Amino acid sequence: VTIPQLLRETLAQYGDREALVFSEAGIRLTYREFDQQIDECAAGLLALGLQKGDRVGIWSPNRIEWILTQFATARIGAILVNINPAYRLSELDHALNKVGCKALIAAPVFKSSNYVEMIRALVPELETGKPGALHAANLPDLRHVIVMSPDPGPGILSFDALAAMGGPAERAQFDAIDATLMPRDPINIQFTSGTTGLPKGATLSHFNIVNNARFVTDRIAITDADTLVIPVPLYHCFGMVMGVLGAVSKGARIVFPGEAFDPVQTLDAIEGERATALYGVPTMFVAMLQDLNNRPRDLSCLRTGIMAGAPCPIEVMNRVGSEMNMSEVTICYGMTETSPVSFQSFTDDPVDKRCETVGRIHPHLEVKLVDEAGDIVPVGARGEICTKGYSVMTGYWGDDVATDKCIVDGWMHTGDLGVFDELGFCSIVGRVKDMIIRGGENIFPREIEEFLIRHPKVSEAQVFGVPDETLGEVVCAWIIEKPDSGLAVQELQDYCKGQIAHYKVPKHIRMVRELPMTITGKPQKFVMSEQMQEWLA
Ligand code: ATP
Ligand code: MG
Repeated sequence: VTIPQLLRETLAQYGDREALVFSEAGIRLTYREFDQQIDECAAGLLALGLQKGDRVGIWSPNRIEWILTQFATARIGAILVNINPAYRLSELDHALNKVGCKALIAAPVFKSSNYVEMIRALVPELETGKPGALHAANLPDLRHVIVMSPDPGPGILSFDALAAMGGPAERAQFDAIDATLMPRDPINIQFTSGTTGLPKGATLSHFNIVNNARFVTDRIAITDADTLVIPVPLYHCFGMVMGVLGAVSKGARIVFPGEAFDPVQTLDAIEGERATALYGVPTMFVAMLQDLNNRPRDLSCLRTGIMAGAPCPIEVMNRVGSEMNMSEVTICYGMTETSPVSFQSFTDDPVDKRCETVGRIHPHLEVKLVDEAGDIVPVGARGEICTKGYSVMTGYWGDDVATDKCIVDGWMHTGDLGVFDELGFCSIVGRVKDMIIRGGENIFPREIEEFLIRHPKVSEAQVFGVPDETLGEVVCAWIIEKPDSGLAVQELQDYCKGQIAHYKVPKHIRMVRELPMTITGKPQKFVMSEQMQEWLA
């Protein structure tokens, strides 16, 4: 199935149902209205001369135009390129150039950043060039810049003008284009979170993401009776695949509380729209639980959802069940390169399994855990998770070397370490890259973090390695203490001694106020390690 086909099927059944709510912007659309706006946008893209296979960058927080672009590019077979709204000039330049974007569709501003100013700085030719005839020295492939504001100034087209550009001639091409769309065509380039280094552009097909979206929402039994709240960013697969495509595949209603995550807005949207399902990364749930303490809400409408992207502390999981009424919340494990989900709990899995594992493998996927030599490890032993099947990306865009390194004989080497139990539940125990090798001893940071977090004064703990001349690497920890607990470094070191093996005791501990994070809420250990090395030098 292609993305346009998926939407057509839903439209045929649920055309007059409400499809989209953007609470902050006050927008409500039925599936039919949504489809009409997609048509306008797709016709506009054709009028600009964009074609199947052309790359179109979208650089925006969660706005209606994001989703219109998602479906409009799919309608004409153009490849949507998700650009992180947190990117700044050099990262934008890198992303656009890396995949050769022909058009960029951007928000005007986001938080304190003026996107239009940044685009003009990157493409000075916009001032003098005619719209559509751009020849930028920096970005040789870029022809069009479209901004979601009424009057974006010289050389830039407004999104509304784009939607008004196409006419009957363009619409008449839709059917012929549709006939050329194949499920295995690339339709989306998504950049990974950048947790372990520079983000990589994963190329995904209709087949990859439409199927994954269906299986993810199957497992939490989403139907046309559900309302799903999405506070996670659209640019990431969690929002656009598991969220938007997943909901569209079931004819469900989708609510976006705001342009970016805000706990108050999200809780208000759940209560106000009587939502039944919610997605989030663990840190978002923590923020919402905190706000609920200040102002209780009626969340009796909530039933299920997904918590994904990073490990979820047991305490948080329990509170989400009891205080947010999400007793059926599931955990997912996946990665951008696998469309994304490969493991997910079932809504009726025992709570301890949902806390301690990422559930069981998704349908139509194979999985194995291998050791460093590539041999399958026994049940109960640690190994690198490898998955195979429909969801594995076609590759990193324009980087065959990197692709061949991680996809071997169809097996995606995830770089994550897992352990299976007899029932097929998988626990994630860390990343291969994060493993610290100290004097030949393999150390798994997650194990030490779980120990540190049990200290009553510790709020967050991150463990990573820094290079060491004699031992190769030594263990470091960054700690956020509980408010006003007055935790001292020595106290923590004493706490470790005699409780965990001496080589696991962090040699350097630093108390910090915040952690370097990706926009998807993941702590970036490579940044901590770099900063720690500077600090120690
Ligand atoms: P990069 O590849 O750029 O370093 P990233 O791997 O964080 O960044 P994503 O593709 O967004 O980018 O995230 C996938 C990774 O997130 C997985 O490889 C895994 O390490 C981690 N992850 C995902 N789900 C879970 C989970 N439920 N529990 C623990 N870790 C998870
Ligand atoms: Mg990764």
